[in-house]
Formats: sequence, C-alpha cells, structure tokens
Amino acid sequence: MKITRKTFDECMFPCYNPQDFVIAKAKGVHVYDTQGKEYLDLTSGIGVNSLGHCPKIIEKTLKKQSRRLVHCSNVFINDKTLELALALKAKTQYERFFFVNSGAEANEAALKLARRYAYDVAGEEKDEIIAFDHGFHGRTFFTVSVGGQEKYSSGFGPRPGAITHLPFNDVAALKAAVSSKTCAIMVEPVQGEGGVMPASAEFMQALRACADEVGALLIFDEVQTGNARTGTLYAYEQYGVRPDILTTAKGIGGGLPIGIIMTSTQIASHFGPGTHGSTFGGNPLICACAIEVLKVISSDKFLHGVQERAQLLHNLLEKVGEHTGMFSEVRGMGMLQGAILKPEYAGQAGDIMRFLAGYGVLVLTAGGNILRFAPALNIKKSTLKQAMKLLEQGLLNYKQVKQV
Ligand SMILES: *Cc1c(COP(=O)(O)O)cnc(C)c1O
Repeated sequence: MKITRKTFDECMFPCYNPQDFVIAKAKGVHVYDTQGKEYLDLTSGIGVNSLGHCPKIIEKTLKKQSRRLVHCSNVFINDKTLELALALKAKTQYERFFFVNSGAEANEAALKLARRYAYDVAGEEKDEIIAFDHGFHGRTFFTVSVGGQEKYSSGFGPRPGAITHLPFNDVAALKAAVSSKTCAIMVEPVQGEGGVMPASAEFMQALRACADEVGALLIFDEVQTGNARTGTLYAYEQYGVRPDILTTAKGIGGGLPIGIIMTSTQIASHFGPGTHGSTFGGNPLICACAIEVLKVISSDKFLHGVQERAQLLHNLLEKVGEHTGMFSEVRGMGMLQGAILKPEYAGQAGDIMRFLAGYGVLVLTAGGNILRFAPALNIKKSTLKQAMKLLEQGLLNYKQVKQV
C-alpha cells in the first residue's frame, strides 16, 4: 500500500492541514519522511519530545513496564501512578495530583475543580472564570470557551457561560474585572499558540493579589511552559508567583500522552468520590515513562543546560533576524521562542514554515505572523548552531523566491 500525503485527504477528517510529506521515523532531533528525506526538527512535536525523538529511556521503560503492567483502570490503583505522584510532590511541593491524557483534559479538570470548589465554599453565585484574549487551553468545549480565540469556539452551539476574557498583561483591566463572583483565573505564563507572549512579572503578581482578594483560585496552564521548557521545572518558579492549581502535559511524557493537575490537599478535597474520572488517566505504562522523564529534566544540571541552550537559541535567532531583515522581535522564555515577522511578511508564517520544511528544517508557527521554535531540550549546541544556519539560508532563499 502506498501512503502519501494524498492518503490524508482521502481518509482523515480535514481539521488539520499537514505538510506535504509523511513522517515515517525519527531519532533525536532528526525526522525522516517516507521518501527517506531528513529534516532537522525544531518543533519537538510541539514541545512534547522534550528529550528528542525516541529517547533510549522511553524505549527501555516501555519495554520493561509493558511486561509488568500496561493498564488496570482506576477501579484499582497501581504502583507507577503513586510513584509519579510522589516524585512530583517532592519536586513541586504540591500535595495532590490527578492524571489524565492530554493538556485539554488537565485544564478541563482544573476548571471543573475550581467551579466545584467555589460552589462548595461560596455557593453557586461564584462561578465566573476569568481568562485572557489569545489564550489557548485545549479543544474540549469548556477549554476552547475559556481560551481566548473566538474562532475555535464559535459554531458549536451554546457555549458554557460565566467566562470573561480580558486583555493579557493588562493589570488595570484585571483589577476592574475581578469581583466576588470570580471563582478562577486561568492563564498561561507564556501564551504559546497565541503568539509566544510572556506574561510580565507585574501582571503575574497582580493575578495572585486579585485572586487572593476575592477568594478565587489561580490556575496556571503550564501545558506548554512546563517540564523544563522555560529553563525551570515550571515557569511559575521564575515569577515568584505560585498558582493554586497547576496543569501540565506535553513534555512530561517524553512523547507519550499524559496530562497532570496539581494542587493542595484542601482544594483537591472538593473532588470527592464520583466527581471526576478518566479511564486511561494514570495509566501505569505512561506513568512509568513520566517518572523517568521527570528524573532527567528536574536535575539542576539538566535545567542549567536548558538555560544555556535557551540563551543560545535566542541570540542566534536575533542574529538570523539581523542577517535576513525579516524579524521585528525575538521573544519568549527558555526553549520556547517566537520570531515576530516584520509587517511586510505579515500572514506569511505558514508559507515560510512550508518553505523551510522543503529546506530540511522544521519550525512551528503561532498565528500568521510568528515563527515558533520549541526544540528538544537536550539538543546539542553544535546542532542548534547548524539549525540556525540552515534557517538563515532557508529564509534568505524564501525572500529570493517569493519576494524582492
Ligand atoms: C497544547 C496546549 C494545550 C492542549 O493540550 P492537548 O494535549 O492538545 O489537549 C493546552 N494549553 C496549552 C497552553 C497548550 O500549549
């Protein structure tokens, strides 16, 4: 059977528009398509393959755990779920953990928990969720509604109510909107899909203060910024602001699907027996892998290495910007960086991404005006330099072919 990109059009839902090649295998930061063409991957599966593609540790752990126990459901508890919870507890000082399969499910659970908490503590009037324009929290109906991109939640019938969207990084708008009705504030420390836009320290501190003032729960969506991506295990550490509920997913599974909700014993107590659940959540096979990934990414040495690579990535992107004249700004946190295209390239991020893939380098976009970079956290510095050279050549070629 011949599999090509055309096969996608013949058998898949058309809600994605993938690039023209079909990926067949990968190792480290190199990806190969069905034709054998090699690509240098600066996307790491949108920040999921934190240790690169097919890391040894995942191969080893999958092999070992798949002989012990793969699945048993939450009618029973298994040792790997508990080991992962204890490991996270030791690293984060959160007290209670709930495991799901994706970022959206983690946020869905966090939002439900915040609503239930407010319902129990203050009554049903306290139901307002505050979130931010351009925020992204996943694709379940509740999470797209809390997300700040209208186009993702419209056209599906009546949306869940009592959700207010405010401009991001706007302290005055926040102070004006928060009230005794507010039950939760949900925010990404760096808006990822929405434009690689870091929250300011002032904004984060205001979120904490406003939430405390009205007894609302502060929820950080660290699905993308978590798990060493920004140079600390979680991004909140760099702000000195601790959320009541932290959600994460993406990089913690080393390529496998897992989502996590972390909070205090007191808050978690409002999810009593029967209030929430997940068939696959806490799956021992995935938890065994996440334990190993956490061990690697939470060491001081590893985090220091991420910080060094992040600085290098940022500096080299600025150089590429200077040499090509295509970027107005390079911004982000750690190994999550965005290159903002100059106005004359507005709307061309998708075209550029495709062109670069043809050139052998894989990048992401964040909307039409931003190229997004989220390489593996352990990418070799020499490979990163090589990737930035390739990127620069690709961009210069793009300019030549498409424009001036
Ligand atoms: C990717 C992402 C999500 C959604 O995660 P899924 O695993 O796709 O459900 C939620 N929030 C943020 C910040 C993300 O980057």
